[in-house]
Amino acid sequence: MSRLIFLGPPGAGKGTQAVSLSKICQVPHISTGDILRSAVAHKTELGKKAEFYMNAGELVPDDLVLDLIRERLSQTDASGGWVLDGFPRNVPQAVFLDDLLEAIQQPCDFVVNLDVPDEVIIARLLKRGRQDDTEDVIRNRLQVYREQTAPLIDFYRSRQQLVSIDGNQPMEVVTEELKKIISS
Ligand code: AMP
Repeated sequence: MSRLIFLGPPGAGKGTQAVSLSKICQVPHISTGDILRSAVAHKTELGKKAEFYMNAGELVPDDLVLDLIRERLSQTDASGGWVLDGFPRNVPQAVFLDDLLEAIQQPCDFVVNLDVPDEVIIARLLKRGRQDDTEDVIRNRLQVYREQTAPLIDFYRSRQQLVSIDGNQPMEVVTEELKKIISS
């Protein structure tokens, strides 16, 4: 049983590592970015509201994202564990998640922070070439990360839940380090 939260700047390799770990632990990979992109592609009400913020590299407003995560975590496949990727993204979301996990009696095991220097991140994101990976949008997403998401590192560190990993290493090395942590 594993319940993991992945933190880290855009381009840190969160998505890749979160998918690997979800396969290893045989629990669902829950990415709010993937769920939102699918909503945009299917032109749902949520997608129509979220698209503007995503294209600008801003966070989608909490009221849209909180409902989404509450619903996703209540689905039966999530009862045996999960890997959260891209949520929480700010302190109010982390507080909400804390309350939710307590209410459904599913405490999180680890919060993993993938540490990667800025130059590496920008180079990686420019190479990735997703629709929201233009240079201006990347800069904005990094700024949003620093202002709103990075404070979560201290939030979880102060609760002794944080594990930091050097994300500027080959993908397989990062995965091996993660495997050791979850089996410790
Ligand atoms: P990601 O795939 O995690 O990089 O997310 C892509 C975009 O989706 C972000 O730039 C945000 O616009 C939006 N997004 C994803 N997760 C969240 C979240 N937890 N809160 C608000 N916006 C989010």
